[in-house]
Amino acid sequence: MCGVLGIIDSEQVIGKVYNAMLTLQHRGQDSAGILTYDGRYHIKKGNGLIRDIFDEKNIARLQGHVAIGHTRYPTVGEGSIEDAQPFWINYPYGIAGAHNGNVSNFIDLKERLFENSHKLINSNCDVEVIINIFAEYLEKWKSKALTPEIIFNAVRYVYRFVKGSYSVVLYIAGKGMVAFRDPYGLRPLVFGKRNSGAGIGYAFASESVALDAMGFAEHSDVASGSAIFIDAEYKFHSKKISKKPFRPCIFEYIYFARPDSWMNGINVYEARIRLGAKLAKKIKESGIDDIDIVVPVPDSARSAAIEIARVLKLRYEEGLVKNRYIGRTFIMPGNLIRRQSIRHKLNPIRHVFKGQNILLVDDSIVRGNTSRSIIQMVRDSGAKKVYFASYSAPLTNPCVYGIDMQTKGEFVAVDADNHEIAKKIGADAVIYQDIKDMENAVRQGHKEIKSFCKACFTGDYPTGDVSKDMLEKIACERKDSQKEE
Ligand code: SF4
Repeated sequence: MCGVLGIIDSEQVIGKVYNAMLTLQHRGQDSAGILTYDGRYHIKKGNGLIRDIFDEKNIARLQGHVAIGHTRYPTVGEGSIEDAQPFWINYPYGIAGAHNGNVSNFIDLKERLFENSHKLINSNCDVEVIINIFAEYLEKWKSKALTPEIIFNAVRYVYRFVKGSYSVVLYIAGKGMVAFRDPYGLRPLVFGKRNSGAGIGYAFASESVALDAMGFAEHSDVASGSAIFIDAEYKFHSKKISKKPFRPCIFEYIYFARPDSWMNGINVYEARIRLGAKLAKKIKESGIDDIDIVVPVPDSARSAAIEIARVLKLRYEEGLVKNRYIGRTFIMPGNLIRRQSIRHKLNPIRHVFKGQNILLVDDSIVRGNTSRSIIQMVRDSGAKKVYFASYSAPLTNPCVYGIDMQTKGEFVAVDADNHEIAKKIGADAVIYQDIKDMENAVRQGHKEIKSFCKACFTGDYPTGDVSKDMLEKIACERKDSQKEE
């Protein structure tokens, strides 16, 4: 997962873009970049957090009415500066871009571009491949005027070759901005328009919070399999290109997105409240009746935990305090870094736990390392019993669409029942959300979403092209990169 944004506006944009980038920091802390255009491209990218990469000097250099920004969490590549986004190519036109997702046939496409067009893809970043495939189509039409139809056909050409998940924002120098989601709409992409006395502008972002930060009060979603083109005169063009079923990632609502974001017409906070209500029902049915206090694992579980306490008429307490200056553990690459940061990330308020039976609520249990450390911390603080509730279902399958949980062996819930999982993480009992309840809770009132991608819970990959070989290959690559760490 990454954060992506694009803006084309009648005013200078860097001030807005910098603020909006900060709202997307939670989606990737590995690297960040901003590219602007004022007749030529200006770019600044670096490894680390936004506040450490950008300073007054490089912000002053990023002039223009057009910008693309990116916060990166590495899925393909090793997180080196060469792989940081945005990218741009100079031919044809000068096309720049960034994306959120994971191109599952990246290596094949890299080879294909070299063999067919003698193009060397120098990075391990999949957006470089997407831009080059898009450009390959435009090259064929370079003698003609660049119409919206040609641009939409170039997106169709991308759909033909590029597999996996991708929400993309491109800028064609002096011609306009193009944004599109993959045929299944796996990763989110929202857009907003402003048309006030001060001018006109369009913006695209992974989450609506980034549009809020740029002053775009009204927003909506780029539809799955669709593209939007804003031309140089700020004319809006859109087209539905693929009719594959809409399958947005359900894990965005469970964990990734900020609660104040809207995506696919669903508010993340409301979805988490509903997830809490469904889980409360499950806890009631489990027969566990000696819980004294409900405590969330901060931050994502807070909304659901408040709802669980409300429904079960139990005391809610903030017993774990998060150090805000340490990144999210789940999106940190590599187990070693992850384990170290869990220990420094949370601290208990000991007297909250002393002599009490605690229900800890978390968004999910992935590898079990975090849950085990937290449960031990709570026990060390004097808790009598520790129950652990996950408001998502058991995670059992790798994600090939951009989330770093890529080998089956990494999941604590694989081939284990709740009793065994409780034992592994040191809880008195574990309660999971049912898959059906999870889906219904997130979707409630949004009938246009027939189903979500929930492959990491079910093993049913919506793109239909994920083979056993592909999963084994990913597992091997992951093992190798962990050895190097
Ligand atoms: Fe999201 Fe899971 Fe699907 Fe990956 S496999 S896109 S994390 S729902």
